[in-house]
Amino acid sequence: MSVHYRSCNLCEASCGLEITVEANLVIGIRGDHHDPMSRGYLCPKGVAWQDLHNDPDRLRHPVRRTATGWERIGWDEAFDLVASRLLQTKEQHGGDAIAFYLGNPIAHGWGPIILIPMLLKALGTNQRYSAASVDQQPQHLLSYLLFGSPLLLPVPDVDRTDFLLVVGGNPLVSNGSIMTAPNIKRRLEGIRERGGRVVVVDPRRTETARIADAHHFIRPGTDVYLLAAMAQVLFAEGVVKPGAAAAYVDGIEAVGRMVSPFTPEAVAEVTGIGAEEIRQLARDFAGAKRGAVYARLGVCQTVYGTSAYWLVHVLNVLAGRLDVPGGWMLATPAFDLPVIGAKTTDLIGYDRWRSRVRGIPEVAAEFPTVTLADEILTPGDGQVRAMVIVAGNPVLTVPDGRRVDEALADLDFLVSVDYYVNESNRHADVILPPTAALEREEFDVVFPAVSVRNHVRWGPQVLQPAPDTRSDAEILMALLVRIEASTMGPRRAQALDRARRRLLPRRLVDIALRIGPWGIRHGRRLSLRKVQKYRHGLDLGPLEPVLPGRLMTEGKRIRLDHPVVVADWPRVVAGLESARADAAGDGLLLIGRRHLRSNNSWMHNSERLTSGSNHCSLLMNPADAAVRSLHEADEVCVGSRVGEIAAQVAITDDVMPGVVCMPHGWGHGSRDGVGWQHAAAQPGASVNDITDDLRYDPVSGNAAVTALPVTVRAAAS
Ligand code: SF4
Repeated sequence: MSVHYRSCNLCEASCGLEITVEANLVIGIRGDHHDPMSRGYLCPKGVAWQDLHNDPDRLRHPVRRTATGWERIGWDEAFDLVASRLLQTKEQHGGDAIAFYLGNPIAHGWGPIILIPMLLKALGTNQRYSAASVDQQPQHLLSYLLFGSPLLLPVPDVDRTDFLLVVGGNPLVSNGSIMTAPNIKRRLEGIRERGGRVVVVDPRRTETARIADAHHFIRPGTDVYLLAAMAQVLFAEGVVKPGAAAAYVDGIEAVGRMVSPFTPEAVAEVTGIGAEEIRQLARDFAGAKRGAVYARLGVCQTVYGTSAYWLVHVLNVLAGRLDVPGGWMLATPAFDLPVIGAKTTDLIGYDRWRSRVRGIPEVAAEFPTVTLADEILTPGDGQVRAMVIVAGNPVLTVPDGRRVDEALADLDFLVSVDYYVNESNRHADVILPPTAALEREEFDVVFPAVSVRNHVRWGPQVLQPAPDTRSDAEILMALLVRIEASTMGPRRAQALDRARRRLLPRRLVDIALRIGPWGIRHGRRLSLRKVQKYRHGLDLGPLEPVLPGRLMTEGKRIRLDHPVVVADWPRVVAGLESARADAAGDGLLLIGRRHLRSNNSWMHNSERLTSGSNHCSLLMNPADAAVRSLHEADEVCVGSRVGEIAAQVAITDDVMPGVVCMPHGWGHGSRDGVGWQHAAAQPGASVNDITDDLRYDPVSGNAAVTALPVTVRAAAS
C-alpha cells in the first residue's frame, strides 16, 4: 500500500488529495490536510476520481466507427488515419476547413494547453472554439483590453477582504470560478468572522446567498444596469478614490459621463432592486475598509456580457480596490502563463479576423461557439468539413444543441480525444481515449494564475497506466509529428518531435520556473527540483501588488474608457427602455444553476455523484406555478424560440417571480448511441436544446444563455 499527494484537477479549486493505492488500484481518497491552499478540504467530486478509474464504460483504446459499430484499432493505425484525413481536408478545402472544439478539462493538464496551439498552427486553421465562449469570454476580452493579456485575470482577495459583493456567481458550489479558492465556504465565513460582510446579487437564493449577510434578487440579464448605477452613485456622491491606480489608469472622467444616465431610480424597476438599496450597496462597497466586487456567469452570459463585466473592473478601480490587499488583485504564478502564453501563441489580440458566416470577431484567437453550427452547415469557401474535439461535448454545452448535433453529423470527418462515447463524439469517425490524470505526472500551468493565494505544485504519477494506453500529451504529439511531416518532411518532423519529448513537460516547467517571477527575479530561485520537494505544494504567500509593472499594455497604462467598450455603450443605453418593457411583462426568464456533485456534462456516469439532490429539475416560484396551475413534481414543457424540452417542476421561493432555473449538462438519455450507461439512465433534458444561438454578446461573442425568455406549460396540455 502506498500514499501519494497531488492536487485534484477536476475543477479549478485544485484541492490537495491524499490518495491511497494498493496493487495499482485507488482504495481511498481524502483531503490533504497539509495542502497550504485546501487544508484537507475535498468536495464529493474529488472522491469520485476512483469511479472514473474503475468505470467499465470508459474507453481505454482507440476505436473507429464501422457500419456495425465501434471497432478497436491500434494506436499507430488510429494516428495515421486521423492525420491523413485532416491533411486531406486541408488539401481539398484549406486549413480553415478544420475546426477545433476544446472542452474545459483541457485547462487541467499541461499537454493540451501547450500542444493544441502547435496543432492549430501546423494545420493552418483559425477555426478554434471552446467552452470559454459559453461562460467567460467577456473576462478574457476585458483582461486583454485593460491589462494587455487575456490571461491577466484579477480575483478578489477573499482571504483579506472585509466586503465581498458576489454578482451572478455561486462560489460555494463552484469552489471559485475563474478564482482558485478551495473550500471557499470557509474563506467566506472568514470574512464574516473578522467583521466583514458578504453580499450576493442573484435571481436565485443560491447556496452562497444562504450563508451571506445579505441577498438581493435581481431580474436576470440586468446586472449591467445595477453595476452602472452603483458606479453612478460613486461619482454622484464624490467618493471615487482610485488610490495608487490613479497613476496608471486613464479615462475615469469619461466613465463618469458614460454611467451618468443610470441613476438608481432609472434602473430600479428594471433590475427589481430598490433605488435606496442600490445606493446603500454602492456606499457599503465604497465605505468598507477593504472590498471587492466579484462576478461570474450571471454577468458574462448575457447580451451585455462585456459591458457588464467591464463595470466590475470599473467599480473595483473607482473604489480603490485594484491591486491592493483585500481588493481586486492579480496572482503571481510561478509558471507565468499570462506572459509565456501571450508571447508564444496568438492569444493576444481581438478582432484580428472574423467568423465567416456571421462576421463575429475573434477573442484571443477563438471564435464563439454560438456560430459553430453555422460554420459547419453553411456551404461556401472555408466551410468547416472536419473537426477535432478535445475533452468536450458541444452538443450539451453550446446553445441550440440540436443544431450542433445536426452539424456534427454533417461533417466529413470527426475525431475526438475523450474517455467516453458522449453526445457529441457519437458522430466521430475515431475516438482517441487518453489515460486519466492519476496515470500521469501533472503540473498545473493555468489555475495558479487565478489563485487567491500564490502557490505552486508538482503532481507525481500515482497509478501505472494500463498497457498500450496513451496520455493526452502523447496523443497530441503523435498527431503533431504526422501533420508536421507533411510540410517539413518526416526527418525534420521526427527531429522536432524528439526535441519536444525531451523538453516536455519537465524541462519546460523547470525553465519556466527558473525564469519566472519566483525564480531569479524574485530571489526564491524556484526550480522543478525545489518544487518537487514540497509534496503538499509550496505556499508562496498572499497575493502581492504587481501593478503597473505586470501590465502588458502600451506604456503600462490602463485605458478604463476603452474604445471597444465605449463603442458598444449606446446599445447598453438603448437597451434600458426595452428592459423596462420586459420588466413590466409577465414572461418567464430561464437561468442556470450548478450542483456541487456535477461537473458540467461529464461526471454523470458516477453513481455517487448522481444520487440525492443532484437533479435536473425546473425551479419555479410559487406565484408563477399558481398562475399556471402547476404543482410540485408536475411534468412540464419548457419552450423557447429554438425548441422545447421536458422537465419536472420543483416549486420554491428560492427563485424570484418571473424566473425559472435549470442546470446544464444533463439529457444523456435523449440521444442514441452514447457509451455512458449510468449517465444515459438519469432523467433530465439538456437545457441547451432550448438555449438560443442567436442570443449573444456581440462584443465578445459570448453566448447569452442566461435570461432566456421561455414558456412553461403542463406536459399534458
Ligand atoms: S472542489 Fe472538488 S472537484 Fe474541485 S478540486 Fe476540490 S475536490 Fe476536486
